[in-house]
Amino acid sequence: MSTFQKEFDVIVVGSGPGGASVARGLSKNGKKVLILEMGDYEPTKGTFRQMLSRGWVPVTKMPLTTGGKPIVRAITTGGTTNFYSACAYEPPFGMLKKYGIDITQEIADLRDELPIDVISDELMNPAASLFMKSARELGYDCRKLDKLIYQDKCKRNCQFCTYGCPNDAKWNARYFVDEAVENGAQIINHAKVRKVITENGVAIGVEYKRRGKTHRTYAEKIVIGAGGIGSPGILKKSGIKGVGSDFCTDPLMLVMGKVEGLEGTGRAVPMMTGFRLEEEGIMFSDLHIPQILKVLFDVHAFNFGEVTDYSDVIPIMVKIRDDLSGKIINNGLVSKKLSKEDKQKLALGETIARNILVNAGAKKTYSSRIMAAHPGATVKIGEHLDKNLKTRFDNLYVCDCSAFPEPMGIPPTLTILGLGTRLAAHLLGNEPAATNH
Ligand SMILES: Cc1cc2nc3c(=O)[nH]c(=O)nc-3n(C[C@H](O)[C@H](O)[C@H](O)COP(=O)(O)OP(=O)(O)OC[C@H]3O[C@@H](n4cnc5c(N)ncnc54)[C@H](O)[C@@H]3O)c2cc1C
Repeated sequence: MSTFQKEFDVIVVGSGPGGASVARGLSKNGKKVLILEMGDYEPTKGTFRQMLSRGWVPVTKMPLTTGGKPIVRAITTGGTTNFYSACAYEPPFGMLKKYGIDITQEIADLRDELPIDVISDELMNPAASLFMKSARELGYDCRKLDKLIYQDKCKRNCQFCTYGCPNDAKWNARYFVDEAVENGAQIINHAKVRKVITENGVAIGVEYKRRGKTHRTYAEKIVIGAGGIGSPGILKKSGIKGVGSDFCTDPLMLVMGKVEGLEGTGRAVPMMTGFRLEEEGIMFSDLHIPQILKVLFDVHAFNFGEVTDYSDVIPIMVKIRDDLSGKIINNGLVSKKLSKEDKQKLALGETIARNILVNAGAKKTYSSRIMAAHPGATVKIGEHLDKNLKTRFDNLYVCDCSAFPEPMGIPPTLTILGLGTRLAAHLLGNEPAATNH
């Protein structure tokens, strides 16, 4: 018989969209929830300095591939949605149904509740409009994209989305964490979970480190939502073999074009417009970034002559659905080589983006180096998780982008929120319809 004392109904590790949606769903229904979050819960200031401290510390916060490519994530309450571009992309319902998962109702409910809409004409930016016009002239179905933004609070000519919105305009997973805390959930910040404690194949608690001390806490059920890199690390240390291999990162690059006479383009919400070549697995969108980041990207790519270009530049993001490959060596280092097909997709995307820029009037075009922002499929449904996101240990679940069964190549947050809402209902005993087949 166990000697541990269960202090909580559920412990949720990590507070990105995966963890936050589960914590909110459970606490709303009276469950005693503890959220353990490695990052801070300070107000978001929208400064370069705060962004650096939350995510741009190589290895400890920003994992690097062995080839030196950065994988961007945010270590703070709300997770990477603090940095994200707030694009609400429709989940791949068909692909998930293949694995016995139907989140259509959850997404319909989230669409009703969250501030999801295309950007208003007042907030549109000349570079995004010109990108959309030029792409359409070349025959691409480029449209305004759905955004997760309280547009009444969003400021024109602001460049702080990527740092973390200081105006509370950008919806991010902190909104769900705040709600969970209002519902009575407890959150402990600066708590780095090391492993899950198990007894006879059943998860009973977690071990975490905070301010140099090791703590253990126990609950009926454990949900790991530490993100695509964090979750497999915790599971490996807990004795689950094989996780963290053959994963995707949705590699991306920025292709930029300077258009004489275009003015006031740099400061705007990123990803206002875009399109996707479904079969090729390539997505395109405008991607406005703060000026300092553009300088860093230019220097990183040896585009020294372009560092002063900003307000007359159209920045296009090219993102691909990559092949599953590589291995997570530890939380800070991953081995992930792009396949020949991945490189061909990126090259095709870069060519298309340059054509769009030239058609828009750009005299000069140039590209950033390759980065990644969506590490996923490290603890796959169908391989390491069942359709209810349960691991091979009873009472242990995973809910974040690591659970994706296949690479997606699309912005994943809405999908993760749908999975988290569904998991909360499952843990409450409200069986979603699709799990009955
Ligand atoms: C620049 C950028 C732009 C993006 N734009 C979009 C977009 O427009 N639309 C979209 O849908 N997606 C976008 N994304 C991707 C999206 O933000 C992520 O896919 C999403 O946040 C992943 O959610 P998650 O819950 O899996 O993990 P995360 O959001 O990364 O959350 C994981 C949490 O776990 C915590 N954690 C990690 N390890 C531990 C540990 N050991 N113990 C305790 N806590 C831990 C972290 O601090 C973090 O809070 C973007 C990403 C980036 C980087």
